[in-house]
Amino acid sequence: MAKSKFEYVKGFEMSDSCLPNTWLVLRLDGRGFHRFAMAHNFAKPNDILALNLMNKAASAVMQEFQDIFIAYGQSDEFSFIFKRSTNLFGRRASKLLSTVVSLFSASYVFYWSQFMKTPLLYPPAFDSRIVLYPSAKNLRDYLSWRQADCHINNLYNTCFWSLVESGLKNEEAQKRLNGTESSQKNEILFNEFGINYNNEPEQFKKGSVLLWENYHEKIQSHGGSTEAVWTYGKNDGSSVGDSGNDPGKANTESAVGDSVME
Ligand code: ATP
Ligand code: ATP
Ligand code: MG
Ligand code: MG
Ligand code: MG
Ligand code: MG
Repeated sequence: MAKSKFEYVKGFEMSDSCLPNTWLVLRLDGRGFHRFAMAHNFAKPNDILALNLMNKAASAVMQEFQDIFIAYGQSDEFSFIFKRSTNLFGRRASKLLSTVVSLFSASYVFYWSQFMKTPLLYPPAFDSRIVLYPSAKNLRDYLSWRQADCHINNLYNTCFWSLVESGLKNEEAQKRLNGTESSQKNEILFNEFGINYNNEPEQFKKGSVLLWENYHEKIQSHGGSTEAVWTYGKNDGSSVGDSGNDPGKANTESAVGDSVME
């Protein structure tokens, strides 16, 4: 086909393909979900239905993009980790970001009424970014970082909302917790509210992990360093797991023995 005289404008597009042979982590996060949660009367500190809706939307993303071998979610965020070898969209960052975040947002809205008891009042939006990690240690530390964030926020929020329920104003509760250590928050919960933080639901304390079912985790040692390698087991197309809640179904087409992370 003959090129039009306008074709040159294509040359202004910038290349943004991600470095090869690195784990590609795509994290999305709800925009203004503090307000969104209030507007939709989310239970405090954790609305389990809203968390499970996040898991469902993430599961829909994994179904579509099976190069994602693990996803981790907490609060209004989700991290998707692509195989190191993925060549989805030629590893173009803008294509990956925009497609994943729009599918996630659309799924969140699509499944809203299956999970939530209140009507959706306005369209939610999510931001997203990609970070590349070159080593398994970096990748594990990334997940540990997000999980530590979940724990810190959940401990604070559990305390905060207990104080508010007991009659303190929001500012008073905030003041009370200002500068407290984890141990002090645990004590407030236990002594004043009879809550043993350790007995709080795992999903609230740790977040949710979505994995293809039948991946068997193997720890392999390479010259002193330990790398986590997941391999496929028998594929029966059953549901992905999280902390005991149903995040939906995900199927895998890959063969037995493939290294999932690679
Ligand atoms: P930003 O646009 O910068 O991300 P934000 O208001 O979304 O701002 P975050 O730091 O992302 O701020 O925090 C998300 C907030 O959404 C939490 O602090 C909490 O108030 C609320 N939230 C999200 N999910 C839930 C949930 N399942 N249950 C209760 N509250 C939730
Ligand atoms: P890609 O994922 O690469 O974008 P695609 O299938 O979306 O693939 P496009 O080049 O974007 O391919 O073309 C969009 C196609 O969607 C059109 O070729 C047409 O078949 C269909 N389409 C989109 N909008 C309309 C519409 N309003 N009426 C009829 N067909 C439409
Ligand atoms: Mg944000
Ligand atoms: Mg947010
Ligand atoms: Mg957030
Ligand atoms: Mg198209």
